[in-house]
Amino acid sequence: MFEFTRSLSKGLPSSSPGEYLLRIVKETQVLFQSQNVSNVMISDYLRKSLRSFTGASWVEVFFVEESNLLLYKTLQTTKAIPVNEDSLPGYVALSKEPQTVNNASASSFYNSFKVQFHPYVVPAKEIVQASSVACVPITKDGQCRLVLLLFNKLDENSSLCYFSEGDLCMTEALGLWAINHYDIHTYCSDLKKKLNNVKEQVEESTKLMSLGVRAIHRRNSLEKCIKVIQSEFKLTKNSIQQISQVMLCEGVIFHLFIGEVLKPIIALGMDTYDSKVLTTKTAEYSLISSKQILNISELSTEPLWDQEMQMRMKSLLACPIFSPEKEPLGCIEYFRKSTSFSPVDETFASKISEILSSLPRDNFVSSIGDKNTSDRTVGTLFKELNSFAISSHELYDYPRIFAEIRRVINNFLIVDSCAVYFANQISNVFWTQQSENCDELTQPICKDTLFGYVFFKQARVTLPDNVPVSDLSSYDKIGMIQPIISNLTLQPVIGLISVFRPHKEFSQEEQEIIEKISGKVAGLLECLWIYRNEEMHLNTQQTEETQDASPEIRFRIANSRRPHTSIHFLPEEVSELLKSSVSPQIVRSNSIYSLTSVSPTKLGEIKNMLQEMKAKPESALNILSKRLRTLVPSQASKLFIMDPHEQHLIDIANSSLAKPSGLVNLCMQTKEIICIRSGTYQHPQFDKLIDSLGGDSKVQSFLAMPIIVQDRSLGVIAFANASINFGPEELAIAEFVSIIPKDYLSNTNDNIKDIRDAIQVGRRHKMLQQWCKQVFFVANSTLNKILLVKDIMHKLYEAKNFEKLIKSGLEMLCAVINTEQAAVTYEDAGEFIEYLYKKGKIIKKSHLEDQGLLAKSLESGRPVTLESMFGKENIIVIPFVEKKMPRLLIKAYNKRDDTLSYYCSFNKEDEQILNEFATAMSISFVAHDKGESPDSLRQFIKQYASNLNNHALISTIRTASQKLLDCDRATVFIIEGKEMVVKSQGLEKEIPVDFRIPIGKGIIGNVAQTGQTENIRDVYEDPRFDPAMDKKTGYRTSTMLCMPVLDTQGKVIAALQMINKKKGFFDESDEETLVIFCEIISSALQNCSMFMHNITERSRILNILNSIGNYILVFNSEGILDYSNKSIKPLFGITKKIAVKSHYSSWLRENRELVLDITSVMQNPTKRIQKKQQKISSASFKRTRTGPGMTKSLQQSQGSDMYFHYTVASVQTFNKSETVGVVLILEDASALAELSSKLEKMQLEVQSMKSSIYGETSLQKCIQKLGAISKALGDPDTKIHLEDVIKTLKQGNLNTADIMSQMPTVQGYSNKAISEYIGLDTSIHHETFRTEELPRRGSRIMVEVIETSILTDLRDIDLDPFIIEDHFPYIKAMFQDFDLLSQMEINSDSLMNFSKLVKEHYGVWDNPFHNFYHGFNVLHATYMLLSSTQAGTFFSANEIFALFIAAFCHDLEHPGRNNTFEINRGSHLALIYNDKSVLENHHSAVTFKILQNEKCNLIEKFNVDAKKSFRKLVVASILGTDMAKHVEEITTMSSRFKDIEETPLKNSDLEGLACILIHSADLSHPCKKYDQYQKWSKKVCDEFTLQFQEEISLGLPPTEIMKDLDRPEVYYASEFGFLKFVIRPLWDCLNLWLNPHINQYIENLNENIEKYQKLKEIHPKPS
Ligand SMILES: [Zn+2]
Repeated sequence: MFEFTRSLSKGLPSSSPGEYLLRIVKETQVLFQSQNVSNVMISDYLRKSLRSFTGASWVEVFFVEESNLLLYKTLQTTKAIPVNEDSLPGYVALSKEPQTVNNASASSFYNSFKVQFHPYVVPAKEIVQASSVACVPITKDGQCRLVLLLFNKLDENSSLCYFSEGDLCMTEALGLWAINHYDIHTYCSDLKKKLNNVKEQVEESTKLMSLGVRAIHRRNSLEKCIKVIQSEFKLTKNSIQQISQVMLCEGVIFHLFIGEVLKPIIALGMDTYDSKVLTTKTAEYSLISSKQILNISELSTEPLWDQEMQMRMKSLLACPIFSPEKEPLGCIEYFRKSTSFSPVDETFASKISEILSSLPRDNFVSSIGDKNTSDRTVGTLFKELNSFAISSHELYDYPRIFAEIRRVINNFLIVDSCAVYFANQISNVFWTQQSENCDELTQPICKDTLFGYVFFKQARVTLPDNVPVSDLSSYDKIGMIQPIISNLTLQPVIGLISVFRPHKEFSQEEQEIIEKISGKVAGLLECLWIYRNEEMHLNTQQTEETQDASPEIRFRIANSRRPHTSIHFLPEEVSELLKSSVSPQIVRSNSIYSLTSVSPTKLGEIKNMLQEMKAKPESALNILSKRLRTLVPSQASKLFIMDPHEQHLIDIANSSLAKPSGLVNLCMQTKEIICIRSGTYQHPQFDKLIDSLGGDSKVQSFLAMPIIVQDRSLGVIAFANASINFGPEELAIAEFVSIIPKDYLSNTNDNIKDIRDAIQVGRRHKMLQQWCKQVFFVANSTLNKILLVKDIMHKLYEAKNFEKLIKSGLEMLCAVINTEQAAVTYEDAGEFIEYLYKKGKIIKKSHLEDQGLLAKSLESGRPVTLESMFGKENIIVIPFVEKKMPRLLIKAYNKRDDTLSYYCSFNKEDEQILNEFATAMSISFVAHDKGESPDSLRQFIKQYASNLNNHALISTIRTASQKLLDCDRATVFIIEGKEMVVKSQGLEKEIPVDFRIPIGKGIIGNVAQTGQTENIRDVYEDPRFDPAMDKKTGYRTSTMLCMPVLDTQGKVIAALQMINKKKGFFDESDEETLVIFCEIISSALQNCSMFMHNITERSRILNILNSIGNYILVFNSEGILDYSNKSIKPLFGITKKIAVKSHYSSWLRENRELVLDITSVMQNPTKRIQKKQQKISSASFKRTRTGPGMTKSLQQSQGSDMYFHYTVASVQTFNKSETVGVVLILEDASALAELSSKLEKMQLEVQSMKSSIYGETSLQKCIQKLGAISKALGDPDTKIHLEDVIKTLKQGNLNTADIMSQMPTVQGYSNKAISEYIGLDTSIHHETFRTEELPRRGSRIMVEVIETSILTDLRDIDLDPFIIEDHFPYIKAMFQDFDLLSQMEINSDSLMNFSKLVKEHYGVWDNPFHNFYHGFNVLHATYMLLSSTQAGTFFSANEIFALFIAAFCHDLEHPGRNNTFEINRGSHLALIYNDKSVLENHHSAVTFKILQNEKCNLIEKFNVDAKKSFRKLVVASILGTDMAKHVEEITTMSSRFKDIEETPLKNSDLEGLACILIHSADLSHPCKKYDQYQKWSKKVCDEFTLQFQEEISLGLPPTEIMKDLDRPEVYYASEFGFLKFVIRPLWDCLNLWLNPHINQYIENLNENIEKYQKLKEIHPKPS
């Protein structure tokens, strides 16, 4: 047994598994490119690669197909075992969980399976016992597709070992990889098959098409030929030429029978014309011996033929000519070079011989007498044939031709039944087909029948005349049977027209009419006759060439086949013309064939138009609409399209709507072409409003063509007053153009039911997208909240300070009930003290603002709520009264709704939470007073933090789905154990919160149990429905759509119940929509719970890390332990107390090397020593290591030595001038590794959660897993290869996978810990701690924690840019808060570079006011306005991005002087910009110059249009900051905002709104709190003073308002005026739009005005 396994293991790559895997992946790609990817191939591939990669000695691959597990093997038949718990693979396929068994023979689990599989090796077929087993299901889209069974893993030494977690990952990854490729391949080969089918059809069509064209050509040639012969009245070379064209032959010899001898008289197209050379053998045989046509298909093997002639002809047809008295006259021989002659050719030849025989004898041959030919003049029958309405190119379409003929007949005759028959003379039947869907009807041509009688009589028969046939009784009494007579065929009757009616006999006139019609039809049927017979011949040749049957029999066989009614063919020139310009849909349409009757000029016009339309698909219909009038010359024309609601016709040319009426509407309704040639305006249905098409209302001629898509009319193309006539050409063009819109209206997908559905679906998707956005917004804010709360919890454990605990409690309270502020007030020694939590800070106050409210609450002992108090939105006060003594009050302010976007009222739930908080607080106060731990508060915070559920999320989901499906009610049931719970109420509160239904009960319970969707039209007919709730509420449930929400494993986690669709029933598209929605819900719900889990895990790991991961010991320059971050006793066996009394060398002596290293650094402070995996020992180490509080990882390593990474570095004073000691940092290597892997796992989860809302593809998962494996590998070479593998995989079809980005490492945390503890410069440690195993990357979780605090800062109007050290995180956070970086595909480095350059360009002039801080301030104000008011909802992400850039850059390179100064001075800038908005133009120009820098080209990824609109908006917004436009802007926008109720804001308001926003942001510093504003105001003042001074010194006209600003009375008056008359109107204007969300600004502004007014009054101007 081990022999085999050992030999297998030789296949294992010894060098690098990564390289090997890369090779496998590449091989697979080649493999899957082959023609047929079979299950056997997949199996072999997986067996081979899994054995190599995991070291399994045997692998079985089971395909799961229709509840069977199938084993595909090359040499054996496929084995199938059922999917059930009888076998391990079956068990795994059902549970979808991988299983490993380490010791199979001893495993009761493994041995409990009835069906066992054994590992064996093919050559010996020896059964080996299973030892280690791994069984892995491969699940894709919730379906288990493969089960991989791995046996007996071998290690490098070929010893048996166990399958690891990594093996399972690898197995799953490879399995997914294979199955994905298999699916793609299957899909592709399906497509290929379809493509081939289409190709075949096209080829066949082309063949038949050329036949059709040839048939028409031949018919016309024959007609012409007869005319030529008739007119010349003798046989000439010209006549022979015509004959050769009819016969489609390359050579002709005409032999004449003169004096009992046959002589060649005329020869054409032959190699020789010498009559002495030309043989007459075959002609003689035909004329004299057989007296029949001689058809030789292969001259080279024909004994009759004189082979010495050596002519390059392949086939011959010889046709004798006899006189009417059957005397031999001569013979014509026809020759072809490449094809043979068909039976049709034979009949043509006979016909020609017949015509020739009737020629006057003198002109033909002198011995033949002067005989008259036929009574009929040849050609008279064809006179008006061309004007017949059917296009002769539609020969394939018999039913249509027949229907057309019937239509013509019905136009002239009043009959009950009418039929057209085609006489198939070879099959001897009459044949017809009433419509395409009808069966064919045949009647034998037989003298005893009515039809046969007519056929042979060759004349019309009317009933009730006495006709001697037997079947007369089966016909109606009154009828007419008209033969269709052809002059071109041998047997003149080629068809019949039969008409019957019950009452009136047919008049003479009617008989003449039918005769005339039959004459017109004859030409058509002739073409049909030629075409059809040729088609038969072609088929016979193709399929029965080798059969030894006479031509006659073959022809009959061929003729008995069904004609091809569905094959279309296209005249070549039209096909060529359109191929380049039209989509396949048009080419496929029948109407294109009508184009063959259209002139080349018109075809050219159509072609040009189609090309233009194709080039501009978005305005294609417009182009079409405009071209109509020239295509069909007319006075007016229009293209109408029905709107999706079928309410209006849209006039495409000017997008106006019209009520459907008049002839246009009639055309739509009847789906019939309307063509009126004169007097249309008198038509009763004529509506001059619509039918005059915007032209003259006296419409004479009118043409309307319905636009039909899938049997529904979607619009009309109409023409009024034709310039010439609406003739066949015009009709053909109109018909053709009427099919074009179809292509541009509907999706190219043929399967879409029709255009309206497409539009409907589009609208739904848009709506869906919006809702998705909202769901995710709420989901994100919920997550942020959880994050915040968890952070509080984390702090809670550390917080020993009671005040901090109160802060945490209030912070949590705000998060839980969505309020901005919360406060606790208590009485302490007769004085009220309040702790107010606001914007991340806690403020202790003894002076209370709203005492009245507090007193009211205290008096009543009940909650008091107030709305709109003090300009705040809402407030609630909860008293806590104990033993009739008021103990404390809890206040909360400014509650927002679940989406955090609107203020709302406090509810009962909030009251309850506040009450509980008050209780907990009160108890804690008591405890605190007694010096005990305030546990009850801690308990409360803990409880609420962990209870914070996804209530808001579910509530949004519910509302969204309800609106989306347009139904009455929607309920989300969440599965909890064996029940389903309603977590959030609907608007009608129809179902109480916490209402529970057991899984399996009722319809919804059933859905949860089976995972199947239920769409019920009447629930009362469903026995599962429980009407109890309806009875209780009086509501009547009728329609219901229930759908399960599945998690990624396919487990039901929730169910949606939609009730009572407002219109009709829930349909398929509702189901489709809900499916998408369920996916989103699933991902959102799962993310939410996963996030919770991650947060907990994160703080746990951080705690562990801080507690055991690092020992930090600092020794002073004396070598005495100065600091340690934790007890060193567990490690060194010595307490700190003792350690500080002696030199390190004494108690570290066990670790000689470490002592030497510390000493070395002591002596040489620039040195830094770093060592890995160092053994650390202590004399008492082992004895003391197992104390309480030890972590698992430490305990595990008990008994062996402890290994640490350590770093020794010197500790220097802040300015690095002096060394004050040495720091020793020890890292527990094993704990670090373990933590590192845990963190990575977590991070992967967080990332997968962050991935696209539509979930991940299995390939992405596969890549993720490979990524994780790559991380776990130690060998850098392998890693590089594995990264290559991942890259290769990614190139497949992924573009968004950001799997490898930003992993957190333990390193990041340890650095943070170190910097927190001893304040070391962590940048040093970035270097010192860099290790191979732990590559340093940014930490995502950390970034998010920071962002939360930054976001809190950013929400403050009064954020002071001067106290921010590093502005970039704030800038980035503002962009990120709107998700702009990811949406605009901007990496954070570019933004950083951009910000740096912006800062540089602001710094050019070192202005007091117009500097970088002002730029940042305006950006922040813009961010605030967009994020906290409805302004943000108006702009798109691109536009918000443009506004941010405009705000940030609006004063770049500001010289600190105003425009007037620049102009007066005639500065360079003033010259460039011609004194117009000089500075603003410059700021804008600099902005775009910076954006050109490749290191910070933020708009690099924008497409041309996006760049254009970005630039437009930025330029407009910056130019809008010119104070010269101030008044104008306010006036315009104020009047616009006053109209806002009547005419809501729309796109055309974009620039106006952008300007007023940026301008207000630019002037927002007066809306900050007084002290902030004062600061800014002083700076402006300084800048102005500088300008004034410079004006004086340069001799420029001084700006008066800048004068004497250092004098208080001037300054205060000027500032007061500025605020009241410049700033106030601007913000009042903005307030018209954004009220009440900018109340804070207005309030501050008013306060500032008041303050300055007072100051102004204190400092009056000297009179
Ligand atoms: Zn500015």
